[in-house]
This record gives sequence, structure tokens and C-alpha cells, in this order.
Amino acid sequence: MQVYKFGGSVLKEASGIRRMTEVLQQADRPLIVVVSAFGKTTNALEELATLSAMENRKDEILRKTEKLRNYHFEVLASLLGNSGDHVSGYNMLESLFSELKQLLETGSGSSFDQWHDRIVSFGEYFSSSIVFSYLKQKFPDIVYKDIRKIIVTDSRFGSAGVLWEETGRRVKRAFSASENLFLTQGYIAGTPNKETTTLGREGSDFTAAILGSILDAEKVTLWKDVPGVMNADPKICPDAVRLPGISYQEAAEMAFYGAKVIHPKTIKPLQNKHIPLVIRGLEDPGNTGTTIWDFEEMERHVPVYIRKEKQILLSVFPRDYSFVLNRHLENLFGQFKQWNFNISLVQISAISVSFCIDDPVGLFMKRVRKLQDNFEVYFNREVELLTFRHYTEKTISDKLKNCLILVSQHTRLTAQYVVKRIAGK
Ligand code: ASP
Ligand code: MG
Repeated sequence: MQVYKFGGSVLKEASGIRRMTEVLQQADRPLIVVVSAFGKTTNALEELATLSAMENRKDEILRKTEKLRNYHFEVLASLLGNSGDHVSGYNMLESLFSELKQLLETGSGSSFDQWHDRIVSFGEYFSSSIVFSYLKQKFPDIVYKDIRKIIVTDSRFGSAGVLWEETGRRVKRAFSASENLFLTQGYIAGTPNKETTTLGREGSDFTAAILGSILDAEKVTLWKDVPGVMNADPKICPDAVRLPGISYQEAAEMAFYGAKVIHPKTIKPLQNKHIPLVIRGLEDPGNTGTTIWDFEEMERHVPVYIRKEKQILLSVFPRDYSFVLNRHLENLFGQFKQWNFNISLVQISAISVSFCIDDPVGLFMKRVRKLQDNFEVYFNREVELLTFRHYTEKTISDKLKNCLILVSQHTRLTAQYVVKRIAGK
């Protein structure tokens, strides 16, 4: 068994879906194909979910839904043409849109997070129904599966936790070896009570990893709009090179420090089963991409540079004039957990603690006030966390030009800097 996942950025136009078909023609079977929502559809749906929870937004909602509808119908028409024999594809999409419109009209009766998941899940249903209608012509034996009934989670809407045992049973039943080509959705899942949940933004990679690990897949391949994992972001470093093979640990470190190409949750389930995770570019399918596996650590690594933007450097000083004590740390980490602050660096001195965090929910300002009862608080917003793995002095000094260094930390393999950019790139 193999799992192929196709991301929204490679499926955003009909040409990407055609290219995907060529790749599927070459692929070994049995094969599960996981798709995420096209392009920026999830963002658009998130906006609709938010608007529908507000007063007097009916016109805006209608306009934005119509735009989304036109976009999806254009992709479908360009794949299937306007001929009458493809009625089922059009009907499927039409009924999804009328269901969405109706939901948006009636509004939410549930918590916002639950409502969010219900609305954004349409993105994956739109994409999978379009892709299915097209693939059905090329591969008449393809089987469509609704992942919401297969991956079972708790009800932490927005970032639900997988209930592995039940999911394991259902996955093995749903993807039995008697069929050999399946299409399903990434990112979305369901509770045992059939409520829709999501696995966290960009979670389709994780879906592929869940399926691959339960089914002991030979490998899991993520088809993306980049040729693999690079040693730096090619948008900021034109001389970036592809890393042909890296260990799970290296990949996990890179994901943690902000390399966007790897979703942090995908690594562990595959590492536990020693299943290779391959990242390949759909633009250049002949290129072997990057394989993440149990590789022995290489002695000489290519230096890796990761830049994580929009970080906050938060420094706190206990108000009781004591040194920083364990109870202060316990209090701070407890709060951060509650607030979903992700911490990527900590520095402790006798009288203060500094954290580099990103604030996924944008409520930093409101929340940080709460810390002021017990701590004196200082912060810098819009700072960057620069991470260098397998660094050399030269790779670092080049990248630190035009940066004011606020914090630095070095270990044998990793150097990190929290910086404020002064000018230029
Ligand atoms: N469509 C979802 C998102 O944009 C999941 C994914 O693309 O992986 O977050
Ligand atoms: Mg996406």
C-alpha cells in the first residue's frame, strides 16, 4: 500500500489535476490518494464562518460564497467540459454548495470552533468531488471514501486529537486490499457522534501519515509545489539546494523551527513504523525529491537555514523581587498551554525569562495583560527567529546582516537568533 497526498497549492488549477493524473498512471497500487482543499479555499471558508457569526453580513457572505462557487465550477468545467455526460460531477458540486449556503443562512447553533470545522470541511468536499469526477473517467475502478467516517477524533474542534484505536479499526476496514485505488479527503475527521472536526491547519499531510502508519504503507508521498525539502527557503535564498535524504529527527527539528514544507505532526506516526516520507514536486515529477527516513546521521551536513517570521519576544521579570523560580515557570508554561502559545525558544537568567513565541490565535495583547499581576512584562513584536543547523560562521554572518540581535543561543548543531530586521532583506 502507498499513500499519495496532493496539496491545495498543486491542485488549485485544472492543469495541476491533469498533472496529478499522469503521476497516478505511473504509480504502484494499491494506492490511497488524499486531497486537500484547492488553493486558498480553506482561508475563504474560515472567513465565511467568521462572517456568518456576525450581524448584517448577508450580502458579503453571498458574494464570497458565489466567488468560491464560480471558482470551483470553472475548474470542474475545464476538466469535464460542458457536455451533458458529466452530470453527476456537476450535481455533486451543486448540492454541496446549496448545503453550504443553507448552513450559512441559518447560522451556527454550536460553539464557534465546532461551527468553524463544519464550514471549512466543505473545502475538502468540493475538491474531492471534483477530482473524483475527473479521475473516474481515467480510472473507472477508483473508490471514493468519506474520511469523516473513518478518522475518529475527540471533540477539540479546530485541532482535534485522533482516537487511534477506533481509527485503526475503521481505516483497516475501509481501505481493504480488495480495492486498489482510493480517493479521500485530508484535514477533516469526525467524532464518534459524527460531528465534523479538523486536524489543525495544513493538516492533510497528517491525514496521509495517519493512514500510512495504520496500514503499514511502503511509503507516504506528499506532492507539493516545491521540489522537496530545501536547505533554505528559495524565495529568500536563491542558492538554496534540495536535501535528497534527511533523518526523521532532522526533519522534526526543521519543522519545529519553522520549515513550512514539513507539518510537525506527520513525522512521529511514520517514524514509529519506519515508513519513508517522501516530498516531491508535482511540477517536476521526474525529480526524486526528499526522502525522510531512518538515515544514519551524516557526518557532513549541508548547512540548513530556517527563518520564522512574525514572532514575539516576551520577557518577564517576577514582581516579588525573587529570582526566577520553578513556581514562576510552572505558572508561565501553564498559562501558555491554555492560550495555545507555541514556544520555540526559552532563555532564563537569574531575574528574567524570555520566550520566543508565536501566537496562532492573535490574542497576544489581550492575554499578556493577565501576566502583569505577577510579572513585569516587556515584549517585541514582529521579530524573527533564525535557526541554523550544521552551521558555519560564514553561513551565519551572511544572514545576520541588517539584523539587530536580541537573543542568541548556540548548541553543537544548532545556532538560533531572535532578531529585529533593521532594513532590507
Ligand atoms: N485545507 C487545509 C488547510 O489549508 C488543510 C491542508 O491544506 O493541508 O489548512
Ligand atoms: Mg491547504
